[in-house]
Amino acid sequence: MECSKPKKIIIAVDGFSSCGKSTFAKAIAARLGFIFIDTGAMYRAVTLYALDHGAIRSGIVEEEKVIRLLDEISIAFRFNPERGASDIYVNGDRVEERIRTIEVSNCVSRISSIREVREKLVAMQQEMGRQRGIVMDGRDIGTVVFPDAEIKLFMTADPAVRARRRYDELRAKGDNVSLQEIEENVIARDKADMTRKISPLRQAEDAVVLDNSHMTVEQQMAWFMEHFKGIIYGE
Ligand code: C5P
Repeated sequence: MECSKPKKIIIAVDGFSSCGKSTFAKAIAARLGFIFIDTGAMYRAVTLYALDHGAIRSGIVEEEKVIRLLDEISIAFRFNPERGASDIYVNGDRVEERIRTIEVSNCVSRISSIREVREKLVAMQQEMGRQRGIVMDGRDIGTVVFPDAEIKLFMTADPAVRARRRYDELRAKGDNVSLQEIEENVIARDKADMTRKISPLRQAEDAVVLDNSHMTVEQQMAWFMEHFKGIIYGE
């Protein structure tokens, strides 16, 4: 049955911080031959630009300054064959690694709560999805960006498991972070993302929950294909 071609649908993957949304969304995209878009990277890119241009000082965000900077920020994704994934660029500079630091993680939820930031990035995301055949991961994809997405996943996992995964990832890259620091960041971001006024993180009514605390990516994929094959192949 999987010999037939998947329909060009939109798959929205939302959920809590560091529960493997991007890893899983990327795997789904590779499996179906779809384009993968990491919207968290876009909010991180704006945050990095704000840090680099003096709009965040000692952790304090100057909202007016961030809004003024928005017009000069141009974000693009370019496929990197070495990684087998797209890298993010801001005004032509590759910032794929710099957006993943704890400094950016600590400020990103504040930046993503600014209405003008969300308006700009949501419009870009909707444009990127126009050709369909995409898997997009974030916090508001199934609720705001693509409320009509054919498949909506809401991912979650035990906070301790999530912190451990992010910690292992950062340590493997040589970042000198502590597990406690990561755990605090994951919990603080969840709270900020769920309680912000504009497009808070919430499960869409028609989303299917996936708790992957004790699942490998292969197990998640098997579950996904079994659960959604009717929608994917239009049986
Ligand atoms: O997915 P990731 O953890 O990289 O996202 C970083 C931050 O970007 C989130 O904590 C959230 O504040 C913001 N975000 C958002 N809406 C999205 C994607 C990410 O507000 N669609």
